[in-house]
Amino acid sequence: MLVRSFCTVLVWATVAAEDVGYFWHVTDFHWDFSYWTDQLSCNGMNISQPGLFGNQWCDSPWRLVQETITGIKSLKSDVDFMLWTGDTVPHVANPFLSTALNEELVRNVTELMQNEFPDIPIYATFGNHDYYPSNLYPPHGNEIYNETYELWKKWINDTSQDQYFLKGGYYTVLARPGLRIVALNSNMYYTHDTVTLGMDDPSDQFAWLDAVLTDAAFNNEKVILTGHVPPGYSTPRAVRWMSEAFNKKMNSIVSRHSDVIVAMHFGHEHHDNFRLYYNTAGKAIVSLFIAPSVTPWRYQILSEKETPHNPGVRLIKYDRQTGKQLDIYQYFMDLETANKVGYVNWTLGYQATTLYGIPDVTAPSMETLVKKMSNINSQEFKAYVNWYNTNGVKDFPCDAKCHKVVMCGLRNLEEGPFNTCLTSPNIFKCPPADPGCSIVG
Ligand SMILES: [Zn+2]
Ligand SMILES: [Zn+2]
Repeated sequence: MLVRSFCTVLVWATVAAEDVGYFWHVTDFHWDFSYWTDQLSCNGMNISQPGLFGNQWCDSPWRLVQETITGIKSLKSDVDFMLWTGDTVPHVANPFLSTALNEELVRNVTELMQNEFPDIPIYATFGNHDYYPSNLYPPHGNEIYNETYELWKKWINDTSQDQYFLKGGYYTVLARPGLRIVALNSNMYYTHDTVTLGMDDPSDQFAWLDAVLTDAAFNNEKVILTGHVPPGYSTPRAVRWMSEAFNKKMNSIVSRHSDVIVAMHFGHEHHDNFRLYYNTAGKAIVSLFIAPSVTPWRYQILSEKETPHNPGVRLIKYDRQTGKQLDIYQYFMDLETANKVGYVNWTLGYQATTLYGIPDVTAPSMETLVKKMSNINSQEFKAYVNWYNTNGVKDFPCDAKCHKVVMCGLRNLEEGPFNTCLTSPNIFKCPPADPGCSIVG
């Protein structure tokens, strides 16, 4: 009896020792300053009733930006910090933009966030649209790095980072004892950045990243890696955002330091997505999460039309002591309803552990999910398809071919393995000792 009571106390002590914290991840506002006038982001359409909170063919009106920031504040204001992964400037052609205008757009959103969250550090990164001209981030100092640093240095709060931000738009911050944020300017690796294309290490960011991660391991810190353009393949379109040489370098650094990286949180895709890094033994070692955008904008290129999606924001639950990523709470705004009723109701779409039946969102747990998703008829794959568009008015169509692209993209971040996976007839194998695994492929 005495032994049992002792055990109970021990179990209670273990649970009580978990120190849970939260942070928000918000990305891709794409504020269209011309929404109520020229509708410059609206795919060349003339929309007579664009909607108070936004339109699925256009980037965000200011009202949507406001409703997002005040909305997350009312959902949960006592977070430890926030990640903001760029693309504040709309999908508008360069002749309608300028260095001064892009700076103005970022300044307005920064000030709104500072006003609403005066005591919360926000770790912000550039998106490919924030530079002028779009995408062409240079590997050296410029006015946009200088001006933006003036806006964000209060959050960074560490003068030792001046040199990195002013030279390449990247920095690192110890968010709390034992937990480091590494904020990258991964736009320099984007395929559209013709300025850095072919360079070995633009702004020396790779060398710096390698050194920061090495130091983090030495100092017993865990790291959250954040940025805009993610490595790997966006599925189901099978688009690789980074030039392959940069993609490979990035992946090699991440893999080498996987023991200190607790998660990667990126933007740019506008959809709810993720991918996993594996070691040579086939074990999942790092989760890369991609948060859906605030902008509801959908592209239309020739005959290709993107399926509509809703604005989204996400809250991440983590263990403050270990950095372990415990859960994702994905919120969305039903844009059509909001426009109809005239007010916004941010709704919890899903909690990852409940939706996917996994204990947390660490790499091994996400691998459990990927295994379940390898069955195209599984509830888990259906849920993934449903939430890919942030509960949009319709799911993207995903047949067997699409399923294969998705599954290959979730597990293969480089060109060679990704293409091999696509052409392989038998890519998904159930482990011999897993009777619950059934694979259709
Ligand atoms: Zn974007
Ligand atoms: Zn982007």
